[in-house]
Amino acid sequence: MSFRSPSRVKSSRFDDWKPYPRLPLHVENEGLCHSAPLAWFFPHRGMPAIGKTLCEQCEAVGPCLDFALDNKISYGVWGGMSERERLAERRRRLEVRYTSGEIA
Ligand code: SF4
Repeated sequence: MSFRSPSRVKSSRFDDWKPYPRLPLHVENEGLCHSAPLAWFFPHRGMPAIGKTLCEQCEAVGPCLDFALDNKISYGVWGGMSERERLAERRRRLEVRYTSGEIA
């Protein structure tokens, strides 16, 4: 009988699994989305992202957006922006850094 300890088991597709990033606590505490329905921020295809209206009044919108961009979060509304809007924002920020000479 052969026994393989879990650490010696060959890598599987779950080895790359990482928990979905959570907002830093200070942002989470200020966020208005605390008790809002998740569907407002992760709407089904074709449904309006109601959560954006909440983000407009949220004090944590700046850090929340920065967090989402830094962590390359690709789903849902974060910092008042949808996935597509964040992608455009990431490109815009990269372009600014590139033209200012910060990155080559
Ligand atoms: S900006 Fe929006 S998603 Fe971010 S913490 Fe505020 S309400 Fe939540």
